[in-house]
Amino acid sequence: TRRIFSGVQPTGNLTLGNYLGAVKRFVEMQDQDWQTIYCVVDLHAITVWQDPEQLRRATRELAAAFLACGLDPARSILFNQSQVPQHAQLAWIFNCVARLGWLNRMTQFKDKAGKDRERVSTGLYVYPNLMAADILLYHATHVPVGEDQKQHVELTRDIAAKFNNDYGVPDFFPMPEPVIEGTATRVMSLRDGTKKMSKSDPSDMSRINLTDDADAISQKIRKARTDPEPLPSEMDGLEGRAEARNLVNIYAALSGLSPEAVLAEHGGKAFSEFKPALADLTVASISPISAKMRELMGDVAEIDRILGRGADQAAEIAEPILAKTYEIVGMVRSR
Ligand code: ATP
Ligand code: MG
Repeated sequence: TRRIFSGVQPTGNLTLGNYLGAVKRFVEMQDQDWQTIYCVVDLHAITVWQDPEQLRRATRELAAAFLACGLDPARSILFNQSQVPQHAQLAWIFNCVARLGWLNRMTQFKDKAGKDRERVSTGLYVYPNLMAADILLYHATHVPVGEDQKQHVELTRDIAAKFNNDYGVPDFFPMPEPVIEGTATRVMSLRDGTKKMSKSDPSDMSRINLTDDADAISQKIRKARTDPEPLPSEMDGLEGRAEARNLVNIYAALSGLSPEAVLAEHGGKAFSEFKPALADLTVASISPISAKMRELMGDVAEIDRILGRGADQAAEIAEPILAKTYEIVGMVRSR
């Protein structure tokens, strides 16, 4: 059977990129016949500095956002990573499986570390090993992610293959498949068409947050960077126009139309005309989610209960897999 695992970091408000590239897909997969496990990856979040109070709040807000987007604790396992210590335990073993050379190729590390490599945490460097542990701890077979995480899922496969090979256990860890589908697998920053939209981008104008109100959304879209040309009516007219392509892709993902169909409808329009239509569509898609989030955040105790129950369910799957892993590696387990 297929088992889905995916995680999101509590590093800030969910963006439209996270929603279209990840969480919306999580909900679709829950409604198919697969076992779905979704995690608020708080251990990943602290690879860059997080204020403790802010982290606690962001963790609960992200859980509320998951629920508001339609994740259902009766059909999916929802929990926060640090409540299932097996993630960190398996990650240590993978620190000893993954090779330095593999991690040196990770583009997310290069992007996040920037120029000052000597000063970032060692956790940021081994982040992909913890992500491999997240996935393989459940023997997950499919991982819905945005385009930016493809390289990390590939590294997870390399770790699984090396572990299986080194220890002579050919089928122990499955080779998980990244699931990257749709027209919004890489939503770009509204300020810079070469950068992906991110929760942790210092500029709030670069992204649409699920918690933004209608005015904020309209303003951000109105100010989004574009070129002066009108929209083309065919796809090849988007060549070399990253910002225009991004807005068309967002419109397509929100409306359920193909980008071709969006251009057939809006081709020839100036951005001054297309942007308000996009803003209306965005507000209509997001405002029910943010209203629901606000309601859920009124009962934090209930969110904590859901995360706790999810952690118990997750640990039940994880513990035997971790125990077997320790046995394979040669750890004495005498109690
Ligand atoms: P951070 O800036 O802290 O890394 P983030 O916005 O990149 O935050 P993550 O928690 O790292 O969010 O990623 C959660 C999920 O959202 C992943 O599956 C990731 O691929 C997806 N995702 C992130 N940004 C985008 C984007 N711009 N477009 C599509 N999917 C995205
Ligand atoms: Mg990220």
